[in-house]
Amino acid sequence: MIFDGFHPMVAIATTPQATELLHSLCQRLKATLYVPETLPLIDTTTLHYQGSLKAHLATIWPKNRAFIFCLATGAVIRLIAPLLKDKASDPAIIVIDPLGNYVISLCSGHQGGADRLTQLIAHELNATPIITSASHSLNLPGIDILGLPFGWRKGSGDWTGVSHAIASQKTVQVIQEAGSQLWKDNLPQNHPFYFGFPEIDETIEPAARIWISPTQRKFAETSTFPKVQWYPRVLWVGLGCIRGTSQEFITSAIEKVCQKYHLATEAITGIATIDIKADEVGIIEYCQEKQYPLLTYSADVLNTIKVPHPSEVVKKEVGTGSVAEAAAIYGANYWFNYGGNREKIELEKSLLVPKQVIKSDNEAVTIAIAQSELEYTGREGKIYLVGMGPGSLDQITPAAKTAINEADAIIGYSLYLDLIKPLRRSGQIVESLPITKEKERAQRAIELAHWGLSVAVISSGDCGIYGMAGLVLEALKNSNWDGKNPSIEVFPGITALQAAAARVGTPLMHDFCAISLSDLLTPWDVIKKRLTAAAMGDFVTALYNPRSQTRQTQIIEAQTTFLQYRNGNTPVALVRCAYRQDESIILTNLSEMLNHKIDMLTTVLIGNSSTFFHQNWMITPRGYNVNN
Ligand code: SAH
Repeated sequence: MIFDGFHPMVAIATTPQATELLHSLCQRLKATLYVPETLPLIDTTTLHYQGSLKAHLATIWPKNRAFIFCLATGAVIRLIAPLLKDKASDPAIIVIDPLGNYVISLCSGHQGGADRLTQLIAHELNATPIITSASHSLNLPGIDILGLPFGWRKGSGDWTGVSHAIASQKTVQVIQEAGSQLWKDNLPQNHPFYFGFPEIDETIEPAARIWISPTQRKFAETSTFPKVQWYPRVLWVGLGCIRGTSQEFITSAIEKVCQKYHLATEAITGIATIDIKADEVGIIEYCQEKQYPLLTYSADVLNTIKVPHPSEVVKKEVGTGSVAEAAAIYGANYWFNYGGNREKIELEKSLLVPKQVIKSDNEAVTIAIAQSELEYTGREGKIYLVGMGPGSLDQITPAAKTAINEADAIIGYSLYLDLIKPLRRSGQIVESLPITKEKERAQRAIELAHWGLSVAVISSGDCGIYGMAGLVLEALKNSNWDGKNPSIEVFPGITALQAAAARVGTPLMHDFCAISLSDLLTPWDVIKKRLTAAAMGDFVTALYNPRSQTRQTQIIEAQTTFLQYRNGNTPVALVRCAYRQDESIILTNLSEMLNHKIDMLTTVLIGNSSTFFHQNWMITPRGYNVNN
């Protein structure tokens, strides 16, 4: 799922060593591996190519979005040189050395996605990514890929000139009139963007300009000042037409209206109309060609919207006074959950172009255009539920690292987001919420995923053990989730009890259990019952959330309960901040454990009746017959 955006993807190896390296990588990436006929096929996911690699590449070139080579860089350059066209259409080209130490983003770093794929593969292989683009080294989002997560369309302009101004660290003015502002939130402090508009500081002389707007700007061909435009898809076209109006007529009418109002057709999200037009061939064909969603509403729904130009004639015919204006407004406000609870009065404000009628002898359309607050991404969202382990980067699984790096947005508690800072990618949205706001964090993740982003929700330890994963799935269930959109993937992590155990020895060698002493979400009676059962059952027990500033007595009750069933000198380990900089470990016993500091950063490990200490190691015997 993580690599979906790069499919179809192929890898090429020409030696046994390279085949071995790429084979397991390809299984994780779901890529097809090609080897020459002289090498044996490992399994059905590997294919032979016949004849020369050069000829084979030419055949598969147009069908694939990414190529991974385990070959000398020089050889790869010679092979692909005749096939390269331009950076907007060339596939991502990646080279890996046969030892798997380096992953090189060779070609199509930005638009082809090679820089991103390189980082992901480097995480998978625990290799060093080699990325040479200027924006990457400045920790900035590539300007030619800035809007991709939000589904913005790229307009014309001097993209190379603007990128060069950014790479030269000159001031670049950004005029954003629509679309998400989230890309701005995590820019590095010394970023080159200047957002002043229309109040422009006279002393600032920008070297380039970026427009982010649905309005069509005209860039004079003679101008040497580099300018580019991104179009967030915020326009909804409300459409009515007489039966049988052709796709061509609809296309040209929409273009005419956009031109008249200086709107870019690239900023169109979709078409909205009345339900009786759901089978109108011209509209269907037009939407199919443009890949626009087509929303249809009943006359009753459209009737609820107050429009500036209602028509009595239309009302008599179809039961609502307005098709184009009402449908445009409805589309712009209700296509997405965000638009849920708007006041009627606000709805009208979204109407940008009032009803326009365009006719010929036998064809006619009415067009109105409304602007939605939030752009349409055209993407299906994903949620990665990621466990980041106890704290240090080398205790995170490579798969979790890849997920963190791939995500468009990362959500978590600020301490954890700081710990994983080195794994983050430039241009990522990062949102932290206070530790008490877990439910809000889950909601926010779902909101962003519904909108179309890939979102990594980060928990410490394992995300499914007193972590965020359950909250997200519960919230999805409560919102009638279909199990598919957003898609979910869970990435396990080393949980606190494993981390704590590893630091003190092998205390979990026999049956064990985890009990959280937090009674904020669970009644104390229930916790008490479990403590008693664990103590009676002679389970090695890990206590999570043992004591906080407001919950001081629970750990005392836990100790008292265990003392009823277990000896006072039963080994206890208090492991605080395992694998973090301020780690501390105290080995004590059941009677004395409360003489030491225990807080919310501590995991308490209570041994069973046969656990012992030896040379400062806590050991629980493996055998059932403890006398052996
Ligand atoms: N999902 C987490 C647990 C969150 S509950 C996991 O799987 O580890 C929070 C509790 O976990 C803390 O109160 C503490 O008891 C324990 N904990 C989390 N990280 C820890 C660490 N690095 N060292 C010791 N205990 C830790």
